[in-house]
Amino acid sequence: MQGYIINLNKVKEEDLIVTILSDGNLETLYRFYGARHGTINLGFKIDYEIEPSAKSTIGRLKDVVHIGYKWINDYKLLKLWQDFTGLFYKHLKDAEELGSFYFEILENASTEWNKQNPKRVAIESYVKLLEHEGRLHKELYCFLCSKKITGDVSLLRAFLPTHYNCTYTLGIHQEGLIELYENKSSLFLSDKEIDRLWSVLMEGL
Ligand SMILES: [Zn+2]
Repeated sequence: MQGYIINLNKVKEEDLIVTILSDGNLETLYRFYGARHGTINLGFKIDYEIEPSAKSTIGRLKDVVHIGYKWINDYKLLKLWQDFTGLFYKHLKDAEELGSFYFEILENASTEWNKQNPKRVAIESYVKLLEHEGRLHKELYCFLCSKKITGDVSLLRAFLPTHYNCTYTLGIHQEGLIELYENKSSLFLSDKEIDRLWSVLMEGL
């Protein structure tokens, strides 16, 4: 099987509880420490097997092979990737059925990650996720005062739209936001706007 490591918890000594997002599932597995094992880390894509355990409800992670990204040695890209993939754990940990959607989001994002500003890749992916979950607010009415937003849009967590004058966070120009929502393209947004959207994204999916 293949999947993305979206959470790691160290338990006694060097053993780990690993949560993996695979195509359709979220697997929580136990990994015994072994000096011969390769290092695994948050955000890594791995090929693996699950060994059921008779003593525990949680299976054992084994035969792990790290599937590296082309950009894996770029520390900055890796750090941003880990920030991004870590968000999926909190969002999905109690989910029952996932389907392929979330796995594919990470598949696509990981191949695009070094081709443009990775924060743009993350934001475009996140808008697809919001739409998939029926949470994308394309109708621009202010979450706080309920009135229509005609100018720049200040976004709160989960990209909830508000007036600049209602929240005083950086306004995103509406044309760029509409292009993002309709075509999943951040082309018309400035790097400053992207930095703001990234920091909103980091508050949680
Ligand atoms: Zn308002």
